[in-house]
Amino acid sequence: MSNTQIASAEVLVTSPGRNFVTLRLHTADGVMGLGDATVNGRELAVVSYLRDHLAPLLLGRDAHAIEDTWQYLYRGAYWRRGPITMAAIAAVDTALWDIKAKLAGMPLYQLLGGRSRRGCLAYGHASGADLPQLFDSVRSHLEQGYAAIRIQTGIPGLDSVYGVATSPNAGASRYDYEPARPTVAPVEEQWDTRAYLRHIPGVFEAVRAEFGPELPLLHDAHHRLTPIQAARLGKALEPYDLFWLEDVTPAENTAVLRRVREHTTTPLAIGEVFNTVWDYRELFEEQLIDYVRSPVTHAGGITALRRIFDYASVYQIKSGVHGPTDVSPVGLAAALHLGVAIPNFGIQEYMKHSPATDEVFRPTYTFAGGLLAPGDEPGLGVDYDDEVADAHPYSAAYLPVNRLKLDGSMHDW
Ligand SMILES: [Mg+2]
Repeated sequence: MSNTQIASAEVLVTSPGRNFVTLRLHTADGVMGLGDATVNGRELAVVSYLRDHLAPLLLGRDAHAIEDTWQYLYRGAYWRRGPITMAAIAAVDTALWDIKAKLAGMPLYQLLGGRSRRGCLAYGHASGADLPQLFDSVRSHLEQGYAAIRIQTGIPGLDSVYGVATSPNAGASRYDYEPARPTVAPVEEQWDTRAYLRHIPGVFEAVRAEFGPELPLLHDAHHRLTPIQAARLGKALEPYDLFWLEDVTPAENTAVLRRVREHTTTPLAIGEVFNTVWDYRELFEEQLIDYVRSPVTHAGGITALRRIFDYASVYQIKSGVHGPTDVSPVGLAAALHLGVAIPNFGIQEYMKHSPATDEVFRPTYTFAGGLLAPGDEPGLGVDYDDEVADAHPYSAAYLPVNRLKLDGSMHDW
């Protein structure tokens, strides 16, 4: 008779180039499961939520009871939703699915319905301060095997812009953009919406002229525009056939996407900062978006994200899971198991982790022919090497903030 009661719940923090928070559960029989709980720039809040509030509740529970545990932690919080709560619940949920798949002796995607596709089309992040650097970055991504590419560039007159690896503030190697910086306070960047809107259409015209009509191209406006500015950008980019335009307006007021939708047929993606299915209700039912950006890590785990995708599928809306380096290999592996199984997969963001990160988590997913595919061993196909992890202790880091160049007032970053 096996004992599937949860016997230990450890909250692990490591910083192999950037911070990660990981929940590790063990059953009484010694089966181990991992969950990602990393909230970029606010990591220790989730550590406390898990260690001080959830871990004591998990001990002695049956690891098999995934749905009941999810409901127990979500309804039981009373203070529902929010990034910290949902990342903590996500970590528990993901670790329990990892355990269940190991107990079943199957890769997780088999429990989610089995394989629907060979792998998950992935997009990478090309960027450059100017067009020659950008083209060089696109070529470098094509050489690495990417078959879809996000385009971000410097803006004339601005020193540093989100998503551009060669910005002076990026603090990383040339095409390896890591926005969180180990500074005592957030780096302050500058912003000028008029300069941005003037510049971007010409960038896409040049990229299409250089790389042709086939390559799927994406762009992230990072929640910085008003509805009418977003509408103007979407319309201006229509000739360049974007795969999507992402996060055009601040995420709190999703109703404004009605205004954007009235003006443009450029596909829209949003949701990386959403936490629950409720955030998507209006967007789905009114068909205001085309892609769901929520990752497993920030939307309550595999149980909750699968529910969001099923709901989206009713409206022909597809997945486009958030996958920057702050989603750990555990979170990415979970997304890939979901991605190969669901009927409405769209695309997966893939910003490669550092070699040090992969040494800690030893992911078994693979990237070939433009597709990411989960590993085939039982569970998620990730591990946690304590010795390597402990050699990289937590180091406080912040995401930048943005101020308008015109007058120094705060703007959305
Ligand atoms: Mg984004």
